[in-house]
Amino acid sequence: MKVSQVPAYLRPGMRGRTVPAMTVAVDVDRLQRDLEAIVGPRRMSLRTVDLETYARDMWPRLLLAYREGGPAALRDAPRPHAVVWPEHVREVVALVKLARSYQLPIVPYGGGSGVCGGAVPLHGGITIDTKRMQQLRSVHTEELICDVEAGMSGERFERELARRGYTFGHFPSSIYCSTVGGWLATRAAGQLSTKYGKVEDRVAGLTVVTGRGDVIETDGPNRALRGPNWTQLIVGSEGTLGLVTSARLRVAPAPQLRVFRGFEVDDVTMGVEAIRRVLQKGLRPAVVRLYDELDTLMNSLGGSDHAPARSRTEAPSPPVATGALPAWPAVEPTREDGVIDRLLAFARGRTTKQVALNAALGNSHLVNKLFGAVAEKVARRGCRLIIGLEGARIRTEVEAALTFHELESLGARDKGEDPGWAWLKNRYHVSYRMSPVFRSGAFVDTMEVAASWERLLDLYHSVREAIGRHAVVMAHFSHAYVDGCSIYFTFAGTAPDARSAERLYDAIWRDGMEATTRVGGTISHHHGVGLLKAPYMQGEHREAMAIYEAAKASLDPDGVFNPGKMGLRDRWAAASPSSHAHARGEYGSAPSPSGVRR
Ligand SMILES: Cc1cc2nc3c(=O)[nH]c(=O)nc-3n(C[C@H](O)[C@H](O)[C@H](O)COP(=O)(O)OP(=O)(O)OC[C@H]3O[C@@H](n4cnc5c(N)ncnc54)[C@H](O)[C@@H]3O)c2cc1C
Repeated sequence: MKVSQVPAYLRPGMRGRTVPAMTVAVDVDRLQRDLEAIVGPRRMSLRTVDLETYARDMWPRLLLAYREGGPAALRDAPRPHAVVWPEHVREVVALVKLARSYQLPIVPYGGGSGVCGGAVPLHGGITIDTKRMQQLRSVHTEELICDVEAGMSGERFERELARRGYTFGHFPSSIYCSTVGGWLATRAAGQLSTKYGKVEDRVAGLTVVTGRGDVIETDGPNRALRGPNWTQLIVGSEGTLGLVTSARLRVAPAPQLRVFRGFEVDDVTMGVEAIRRVLQKGLRPAVVRLYDELDTLMNSLGGSDHAPARSRTEAPSPPVATGALPAWPAVEPTREDGVIDRLLAFARGRTTKQVALNAALGNSHLVNKLFGAVAEKVARRGCRLIIGLEGARIRTEVEAALTFHELESLGARDKGEDPGWAWLKNRYHVSYRMSPVFRSGAFVDTMEVAASWERLLDLYHSVREAIGRHAVVMAHFSHAYVDGCSIYFTFAGTAPDARSAERLYDAIWRDGMEATTRVGGTISHHHGVGLLKAPYMQGEHREAMAIYEAAKASLDPDGVFNPGKMGLRDRWAAASPSSHAHARGEYGSAPSPSGVRR
């Protein structure tokens, strides 16, 4: 065994310290031969370029660290010993057995679009990229079920279903860079989740290779469950219990009609109440998005109000006999700035407020006061509410009429179709512009939390206040359900130097998560936990964490699967004095992980 240094930012709850973590010393030549024997020489790699590529996912904290440390940070970051691309379940089984024999970690890797550090190989090991398991095997039209391999890209999956006249109804903003397995592992949510549900609502069964090397097929298409629901034990476990190789998912007929519309409400309180009333009347719009005042302002700065209106009845997709629409209108690449860019322009003072803001940079308190004042002013403009419905033609027409009538009777003002179609056109624009933002010295991230209707406004005000102490923050409410709703905060910060930026970033997450837990919200609606939110798992799950630890011990007795994530005990860190300090909650204010030991 050799002791290596894991950067402090990768050790949840240990901010500002360097923590010893143990990594198994490996005879790499032998490892290479053994991996080749399983997948052949072309579907494995020990090349530096691959190991560095698979050292991270899209967690913004990593971008901050790399920005500060440059190439050296990348070189020093934990990286896998090897990357493999299996094509068959039997290869995955052999890889798990190999990892156990070497006592090496395994990190499942889908698209690498996770934003919480879930796919970071904290202690090295074998990173298993699932993307060569990528077939849509079958669609069972009688049961509205399909069988799909875990590594299939989201966009291809939806396109393949659309060709057959169906949809999975799951459209995350990351649909172009995430996989079916990654969705299941993180309990992802798509933009149409109010109608179709989150991914966990659409899964009938899984095939998973556990840390024992066993292949488990969970449940089935019919809901006649006998005993516990094993599917839901695996869903959301972020690769800590095993690797999902394929899934049985519920599909729906592709929609025949889409209707989009924009409304304006006085404020967030009015908008939240209107959404609750619509859902509790039994109406099911697919898209529900209520923007707070600053988010409304940022949207309107983009000129999206003036996008051309679309016909309420789009032409049917040619190959589909059912009259179904194309799964999702084609997305044209655009150079138009997204909301994040505009928010950052504010944060960096490149707008009309430039002079005042530049003077205030370096004094975060003053900057935040200024942004507070801006937000106050725009509050008087009201909040935008986007509603979209889709489905069978007549049903959608009726449901749209009832929904819009209900909203108007609650005081929402109809702004016509254009804002709705403009949202649809721009729905993926926000997301792919992180690197230039970070290079320019600022940072941006999102925090998605959720609560019951009763606690929702409390959650909004508490988290907004907590983040707003440090950064510019705006929010929208989306993913609404009968019993509650999620809030998606977007924040942007700047600091005079990289170290202060990292401290600021950590403080935002600490205060935001603590505010969430304090008011009884959930720490993650759909981005998952990974490393970022691991310190808050105990606060969220309390005694149930012991059940999770027990499941881990049973399914993965050597603890090889994705160690260090989700607040579970990490055998590679367990021996270090620092990790005991962590378990005692000595660092930061994060709750400690549960103390079940193997
Ligand atoms: C621009 C952008 C937009 C985003 N928008 C959304 C959004 O709208 N909705 C949303 O929910 N999320 C969103 N995300 C977050 C991210 O896309 C999701 O978390 C997604 O589900 C991750 O899928 P992935 O295939 O990229 O997984 P990865 O990032 O590769 O992995 C995520 C976690 O799952 C584990 N894992 C991956 N595959 C498997 C498997 N087959 N078996 C077991 N464990 C596995 C990994 O070990 C890791 O812990 C966004 C991210 C970005 C960068």
